[in-house]
Amino acid sequence: MAPAQTMGICIGTANGYGGALRPLVRRRALAVWRWRWYNLQGFAPVLPKKGAAQWLNIEGISVDMPLILQTFCSGSDGNCALVSDGSTHLLIDAGLTLKNAEAALHGAGISPGELSAILITHEHTDHVRGADLIASRYDVPIYATGATWVAMETRLVTRTAAKNRIVFDKADDFYIGDINVQPFGIPHDAADPVGYVIFSKGRRIVFATDMGYTNERFVKRAAQADLMVLESNYDPDMLRDGRYPAALKARIAGRKGHLSNQDSAGTMLGCIRGGQVRRFILGHLSRNNNTPQLALRASMAALAQEGLRMGMDIDVTVAPRTTPGERFVL
Ligand SMILES: [Zn+2]
Ligand SMILES: [Zn+2]
Repeated sequence: MAPAQTMGICIGTANGYGGALRPLVRRRALAVWRWRWYNLQGFAPVLPKKGAAQWLNIEGISVDMPLILQTFCSGSDGNCALVSDGSTHLLIDAGLTLKNAEAALHGAGISPGELSAILITHEHTDHVRGADLIASRYDVPIYATGATWVAMETRLVTRTAAKNRIVFDKADDFYIGDINVQPFGIPHDAADPVGYVIFSKGRRIVFATDMGYTNERFVKRAAQADLMVLESNYDPDMLRDGRYPAALKARIAGRKGHLSNQDSAGTMLGCIRGGQVRRFILGHLSRNNNTPQLALRASMAALAQEGLRMGMDIDVTVAPRTTPGERFVL
């Protein structure tokens, strides 16, 4: 099947609503800049309009609807996370059953019919399992790159209406409601895997799992996050000594596989040194080759190198593998 054009709707900053919303972002950013400048000059309080305060989450101004992230499941058996700004509700991946998705959304106070979109990172079943059923039952658009759509459409996404098959180019950012989505390529053995930077209300969430390795470019991008979901897939000793066939072990540890606890801890340290990120959720832990304790221990050891204490200086938690996790409010 031919890519993009025949599969659904293509988006981009040139022809999509992303472009239309840009002036609004600029206006709001300007309002906040003005407010900060006046404050610096001692003219406080000069408050921007309520909308701008909500949008950019300025310190000292009450924010009615914060940006929320909650993982619903995270691991080799299934991946799904909710990002919500109170009016736009996104799922990042939908690798869970329809029943579990409905239960998790209700638990988060959101009706499945209110979902704004499902963003897919890549076509592996643990990320896509429930997407087709959720999208078709509740009329929710699914966003994925052209190559991921080709890979998904053969068996994983068959019921979703054409109007809800949205194709994006990972080189372009786009908007869903007021939430800015910036996809970026990641090294993994899938058709066209991506991670996401989610930007809303002046807060930035980086979502990055299923990566064979990270590099300086990745760290530079991720370091500016307020909250980061970072893969911590396996403990190298458990993988080595485990029962997986040699080829699968090589795949997992390979350049297009997954991040080990130590890879993840090293990446975390790079992000802390290079930027402002202080809150991490370790995700996509392997059922057979890892434990939350080992993942946290690796992070703690890395942080200790910098004289940082976990829980005091840096917040690190592990996303539960099969149940909804903590609700993070930004
Ligand atoms: Zn994968
Ligand atoms: Zn996965």
